[in-house]
Amino acid sequence: MNTPRQPRETRPAGIASQRGEAAGLEPLAVLPVFVPLQGKRAVLAGSNGGAPWKVKLLAAAGADVDVYAPEPSEELRAVPGEIVAGSVTLHERQWQPSDLDGATFCIGAMEDEADCIAFVAAARKTGAIVNAVDRPHLCDVKFGAIVNRSPMVVGISTEGAAPVFGQTVRARIEGMLPRGFKAWIGAARDWREEVTGRFHAFSDRRAFWERFTDRAFAEPDRAPTETDLAELLGQTEAAPKGGAVTLVGAGPGDAELLTLKALRALRNADVILYDDLVAPEILDYARREARTMLVGKTGHGPSCRQDDINALMVQLAKSGKQVVRLKSGDPLVFGRAGEEIDACHLAGIPVSVVPGISAAQGAAASLGVSLTNRDAARRLQFVTGHDRRGSLPEDLNWGALADPSVTTVVYMPKKTLRVLLERAIAEGLAPATTALLVFNATRRNQAVVAGTAADLADGVEASGFEGPALLMVGEALRRHGAAGFGETAEPDRLVI
Ligand code: SAH
Repeated sequence: MNTPRQPRETRPAGIASQRGEAAGLEPLAVLPVFVPLQGKRAVLAGSNGGAPWKVKLLAAAGADVDVYAPEPSEELRAVPGEIVAGSVTLHERQWQPSDLDGATFCIGAMEDEADCIAFVAAARKTGAIVNAVDRPHLCDVKFGAIVNRSPMVVGISTEGAAPVFGQTVRARIEGMLPRGFKAWIGAARDWREEVTGRFHAFSDRRAFWERFTDRAFAEPDRAPTETDLAELLGQTEAAPKGGAVTLVGAGPGDAELLTLKALRALRNADVILYDDLVAPEILDYARREARTMLVGKTGHGPSCRQDDINALMVQLAKSGKQVVRLKSGDPLVFGRAGEEIDACHLAGIPVSVVPGISAAQGAAASLGVSLTNRDAARRLQFVTGHDRRGSLPEDLNWGALADPSVTTVVYMPKKTLRVLLERAIAEGLAPATTALLVFNATRRNQAVVAGTAADLADGVEASGFEGPALLMVGEALRRHGAAGFGETAEPDRLVI
């Protein structure tokens, strides 16, 4: 059972996780696609209430639109004079099948259902993309709400389920995307070729565009200039080249607890070596092209040997890859990061660390407790629950564990929970001291068993809860019930 496991390569993040858990691709109500219409012919027939707006949209996307309407509304008549892109020609007559020849996009906007059905059938015959205003059952494609920062366009659909919700989301996204992005994204398009010509390595191009994006976010309202281009090219050229390793803290589970730096490292990685305590949804933030490899198992059971992980990490970085070593929580807390850092130094590979939220911090936040409550704790200690062989470490500082004014967080506590608490009590810890076992901290299935140092082990056994868990002991934790505990934990899974 305990034979070391070889690193397992998984499919790119966002397609499926190796453990059969839903990772990324949940069912989609519709497939969002973007249709380039510059210089293409489009046809709209009819003149119901939705017609003018649709004509404007098609023209705004660069289409040459022919409108067939025997009795156009005043509003529709005005459209040709209002457009700023594409063209609109109004034909004041009934449509006929030959009008649809060569059309890429056809919209039926007539009041009469039978006429609309005939139009849609004729349009499909020509191979055009078909939409019918206010008749979803006749549509091949539907329109959503738009946020326009062309060349960046954001489309939003609730698939008819909640139009007002969709509009509100649209308004929020409008607010999040400064109008000045238009100029930056336009500059990106204009500079793309030059940047691609200058940098042959993908990682260099990516580094350039990350710098570019940072600058756009920092100064969205200033139009980018040739000076920006020159500076950004220079900075990218001056940056150190070649592969590198970044140890990244993935946090305890909730993906929103990733730092911005962690997010950037994930987006920049060619290869991600991750532990199985890393929540699957975190990998969704990787580039689609990135290779993701499961390399570890913390706790019990088979695992890749640390030496194999180190060797793989170094070998990948030597071949020029940007390697992210993604570790649960904070990489520098009970993560054997020291050995990985040493291996990189030894091989001359640049290595850096992006800190993460450690499980203790995640658990404390979910519980709403201060770990260093002034009335109860003078000290906070992180302790390991097992040694190299999985037994209770003999050399724990028992005096420190028995200290009445300490908050203790024990990582990897499950196997040795009972003996650890018994020994701590024997060493002087008050049996009535508050003790919690927090499973799956910050995850949707977070569950807590609360008790005292004397009875917690029984409570845990009775609970049947599973998953990574932390033991937290100390009087500072007594207040957990008073601080909105039930709001973040799932009350039906609490055993108190
Ligand atoms: N570097 C990690 C700890 C790795 S050691 C950190 O900073 O959090 C692995 C142990 O971390 C597990 O055995 C468990 O005790 C704890 N752990 C990790 N994620 C956890 C979670 N979501 N909830 C509770 N405990 C967790």
